[in-house]
Amino acid sequence: MTETDLKPRPTTIDAAPRIGMVSLGCPKALVDSERILTRLRADGYAMSPDYAGADVVLVNTCGFLDSAKEESLAAIGEAIAENGRVIVTGCLGEEADAIRAAHPAVLAVTGAHQYEQVVEQVHIHAPPSQGPFVDLIPQPSEHDIKLTPRHYSYLKISEGCNHSCAFCIIPDIRGKLASRRIDAVLREAEKLVAAGTQELLVISQDTSAYGVDTRHETRDWKGRQPRAHITDLARELGTLRTAGGVPPWVRLHYVYPYPHVDQVIPLMADGLLTPYLDIPFQHASPKILRSMRRPANEAKVLERLKGWREICPDIAIRSSFVVGFPGETEEDFRYLCDWLEEAQLDRVGAFRFEPVEGAAANALPNPVAEEVKEERFARIMDLTARISAEKLRAKVGRTLPVIIDEVGAPDEDGDIGATGRSQADAPEIDGAVYLRNVPAHLAAGAIVDVKVEDADEHDLFGVVA
Ligand code: SF4
Repeated sequence: MTETDLKPRPTTIDAAPRIGMVSLGCPKALVDSERILTRLRADGYAMSPDYAGADVVLVNTCGFLDSAKEESLAAIGEAIAENGRVIVTGCLGEEADAIRAAHPAVLAVTGAHQYEQVVEQVHIHAPPSQGPFVDLIPQPSEHDIKLTPRHYSYLKISEGCNHSCAFCIIPDIRGKLASRRIDAVLREAEKLVAAGTQELLVISQDTSAYGVDTRHETRDWKGRQPRAHITDLARELGTLRTAGGVPPWVRLHYVYPYPHVDQVIPLMADGLLTPYLDIPFQHASPKILRSMRRPANEAKVLERLKGWREICPDIAIRSSFVVGFPGETEEDFRYLCDWLEEAQLDRVGAFRFEPVEGAAANALPNPVAEEVKEERFARIMDLTARISAEKLRAKVGRTLPVIIDEVGAPDEDGDIGATGRSQADAPEIDGAVYLRNVPAHLAAGAIVDVKVEDADEHDLFGVVA
């Protein structure tokens, strides 16, 4: 059960029906959950932090991999057992028959990104008791219900994807790229920052394609005319200021490796964007990239990485890779390992290839045996952990800005520890910075300079400078 950190408005506490929310899946699904809850709150609903107090429970599911489907079905089963009144939404909602076969008691099933249908089903199964709230506009505002901590927020700029990577069914589930208007995105970002957000995480299925579908239309924003384009968006986000008068950290996630990504690197060097790029390369072998239907110019990528580091030496590059894709030979895998040695990426996530129902890759010949996938997975994890450890060790002795996520209670000696992240660490997926002996007034969301004293494979350790 995911709890919200906002209390319902006093006028609705006693009378309002209460909604429970279980949010599974990726950060994009989390943003969907936030949107749904924001809309329901505008309709006069209150939120329940547990099953027992909920009039109805929403389960926002993930259906990307078969293992995620199983997790989603198990979560639906738990919600039915604990509460009994369950509405299912999210990616797995596209497979309503499978859900109903496993859990005939679900009240309703709606698909991904169908806010209106979810809200309608909630209205049917737990009618709102506060009429006037029904008319409130469900636009993001400083009263938004956020499932993420107040000091960082996801900013979704588009939905869907125009690519057709062979292992992925997201374009079938979410449809073609549909970008939000840039003024709407900037308004939401401005409100999030005004409400205390210190770090914006820009997400979409394909962040660097932002605005391609709208021909990069311009909108009026504070007397300027920014285009719906990642560089204009980055420039405008760089003009925002937190309550402390500094620009918020702005991270770009899920960036497809188009050539024009090169244009955002100088914005990082200028301090408009956090020097961090999450760019899933998926593989390096040209043969495997071609059969994945991904750009297959890995040698050029190495050159580009070099160029990016020349422009912005502190840039942290995160990527993810699939091992055991059909047809991947030992030679292809070694090619990937050699490429990784050269690329020296800061953060790497690896996945064993898993066939997803409906994905084109399932029909490819020469599937890789499970034990070979496991062995390659272990090797890539060892290799990337070693590279990460070396890169982190090089930071020992430096002073870095760190955003505080959590401050602990004093230990028996009165020392207080805290956990934070450097600019190279996105929340939930990267490493942490563990601080000792922090000042008692330090709070989550503060950005402090930290002297790095030690490092391991994934994390740093230090003290406030
Ligand atoms: S770019 Fe991403 S979302 Fe689009 S098809 Fe490829 S893996 Fe799927």
